[in-house]
Amino acid sequence: MSGYSGDLSKTQQLALNEFKSILTKDTLAEEENLLRFLRARSFDVDGAYRQYMATLKWRKDNGIDQLLDKPRPLDKEMKNIMSSGFHSYDKQGRPAYFEYTGRTDVQALIQLPLDQIIRRHVWNCEKQIARMKEISQEIGKNVETMVHIHDMTGASQVLRKALNLFKKLAKLDQEYYPERMGKIFIVNTTWIFPVLWKCAGVFLDSKTRSKCVVLKTGEIKKLLEYFDPESLPKEFGGSCNCEGGCLPPIPKHMRFLSEAPSLTEQYTIGPKETLEKSLECTNDGDSVAWCFTTSKDIKFGVTFKPKPHSGWSDKMNDIPAIWVLDVEPKSENDSPVTGYYTPPCPGICTLVWDNLDSKWSSRTIKFNILVEKEANDSEEENGSNGIKRLSTVTYV
Ligand SMILES: [Zn+2]
Repeated sequence: MSGYSGDLSKTQQLALNEFKSILTKDTLAEEENLLRFLRARSFDVDGAYRQYMATLKWRKDNGIDQLLDKPRPLDKEMKNIMSSGFHSYDKQGRPAYFEYTGRTDVQALIQLPLDQIIRRHVWNCEKQIARMKEISQEIGKNVETMVHIHDMTGASQVLRKALNLFKKLAKLDQEYYPERMGKIFIVNTTWIFPVLWKCAGVFLDSKTRSKCVVLKTGEIKKLLEYFDPESLPKEFGGSCNCEGGCLPPIPKHMRFLSEAPSLTEQYTIGPKETLEKSLECTNDGDSVAWCFTTSKDIKFGVTFKPKPHSGWSDKMNDIPAIWVLDVEPKSENDSPVTGYYTPPCPGICTLVWDNLDSKWSSRTIKFNILVEKEANDSEEENGSNGIKRLSTVTYV
C-alpha cells in the first residue's frame, strides 16, 4: 500500500483516523495533506502530529499563506546571479522547476541576505503548490509533488561555497514541505560532480537522495522518458521554444563559463617514463579528484601513503605506499577520465601516469587535480564555509 489516499493498508487507515481525531476544527486539513505528514513519518502518528503542528505554527508566524500576494523577493538581484524558472510539467503532471545551477554566480549569491534567500525559496515552493492545484484541475488527477531540474553545466568546486545555504534550504523542505519532492534531475554533470555529490550526501536524507536522477553530459535525452518533448525546453532536449525563451537568460558573465578550460595543466611523458603528482590530504574525509585527457593510451593509477601520527614523522619514509587503484590503460578518448579517491586517513596520494611500456612514443596529458576538503558540518559564516584549499605538493 502506497500510503496515498485510496491506497491505504489497515494500519495506515487506523493511523489516519487517529491523526484526524487528535486535530481540532482549526487544524484539520484535507486527507492528502495529513497523509503527506504521515508518510514522511512512516505513519507514526505522534511524529506526524508534531511535524504538522510545527508546520502550521511556522506558516502562521511567517505569514506563508499570504506570501504569494507579494512580489517574489530578490527578483532584481537574481537576474545577475542565476537563471531559473517554472516551465510546464512532466508526464505525471508534476510542475517543473528548472535551474542553471552550474552557472550560478556563487560569490554573489552568498552575499545576499540569508532571510531573503530563504523567503524566495519558500515563495517558489508555494508557487509550485499553487501550480499543482491548477494542474490537478486541468488534468483531472491529484498532483501533489513537483520536479526539479538542475543543469550543472559549468559547475566547479566554487559551488561548495553555497553548500551551507543549500543545506539550510533542504532542511526547511524536509521540515515544512514533507513529501512534496517528486524527482530531482541533476543533468549535464561534469567531472567535479562526484565530489560535490558526496558533500551534498551529508545533508540530504536517504529518501531525498533516492529521488535524484543524475544524467551526465550527453545523457540529457533520457529526460524524454519523463517529459513530453513539447513540455521540455529545447536546451534540455525537448522541443519547446517559448517566445522570449523558455527560461530567463543566463547572466552574461556566467554564460560562457562552461567553455572555460578546466584542464589547466599539460605534460608530455616520454617513452619509458612516468609522471607522478602528489597531493596531501591533511584531514579525515579529504578526497583527491582528477580529470585528464591523454593523446594515446596510458596506464593510470593512484598510490597512497598514510601520514604517521605526530611523534614519528622521522619514520614516515618507512611506511610503504600502497596501490589504491590498479594501474589500468586509458585510451585516447574525447571524454576526459575523471574520478576521485578518499583515503582512509590523512596522508599523501600520488597519481601515477605510466608510459613505461612504450619504447618509442610519448603521450601528452592535460589534467586538473585537486584536494577537496571534507564538507564542514559546522555553521560557518560566509567567507570560510569550510572551503580551505590545500596547496599542491608536486614531485615530478
Ligand atoms: Zn518553453
